[in-house]
Amino acid sequence: MKVLETVLDLNRYLAPYHRAGKSIGLVPTMGSLHAGHLSLVATARADNDIVVMSIFVNPTQFAPGEDFEAYPRDLERDTELAAEAGVDAIFAPLTAELYPPGFSTFIDVVGVETSGMCAASRPGHFRGVTTVVDILLNLVRPARAYFGQKDAQQLAVIRRMASDLALVPEIVGCPIVREPDGLALSSRNAYLSPPERSAAPVLYQALRVARDAIESGQRSRDKIITMVEHHITAEPLAKLEYVEARNAAGQEAPSILTGEILLAVAARFGTSRLIDNIIVEIEET
Ligand code: AMP
Repeated sequence: MKVLETVLDLNRYLAPYHRAGKSIGLVPTMGSLHAGHLSLVATARADNDIVVMSIFVNPTQFAPGEDFEAYPRDLERDTELAAEAGVDAIFAPLTAELYPPGFSTFIDVVGVETSGMCAASRPGHFRGVTTVVDILLNLVRPARAYFGQKDAQQLAVIRRMASDLALVPEIVGCPIVREPDGLALSSRNAYLSPPERSAAPVLYQALRVARDAIESGQRSRDKIITMVEHHITAEPLAKLEYVEARNAAGQEAPSILTGEILLAVAARFGTSRLIDNIIVEIEET
């Protein structure tokens, strides 16, 4: 497996594959790899001739005061895990490779995808995400790029960008990988103290309570949201940020739930901000 640190090296590495018409799968990450990232690699491996993983802690998606400096970084360990998972090349550039002096162009999705949820508390976050993802797609020119449903709003924003800008790569969403107790894997789980780690599965428990209620016939959006809020706020170590219900188009779900519904939550546990979501299919009656 190659580790490429410059755009020049990336271009040199990719050129023969592009010339030969090979399909490239791109898995963009910020490193600190876990089984969630590796599940994206497995899917990319199955779909493409070669798999490129980018590892880049993208400064433009962190607001001032967020955890950019503290974000866990361990390229050596990531390299081992990526090689074992079948990645062909890691692209791990320095910041100046992607944002050279004078950089001043950003991509900003301004629709429903960037209203509410994480956009409300992380101003500029998705603008940083879409900008870096577009740069990576332009550099790698993959057939497909892989993103986790764990970051449901990010996936929706990237799909919107790809559709609006007629980007060539297919955007592939992949299911959430969880710990045995239900906690969604996240690089930020590493920040949790033991008591916070014990408390964190409350997010998925709350979502499951809501799913059970829907499956038992509850159709009131507001009752479902309140149910999730109560479940999370009953955990003293959880500081709830939001509970939202969205329809398949990304708008607020109808007051009587129907169709495909995304239930999404965010909460802080100490300094860690965790997110989770589920999708519930409700048959039209
Ligand atoms: P990150 O390194 O946190 O930026 O994540 C890189 C990619 O991995 C994103 O597309 C995430 O949505 C995805 N990802 C992170 N955690 C998980 C998980 N638990 N299950 C599936 N995908 C994940």
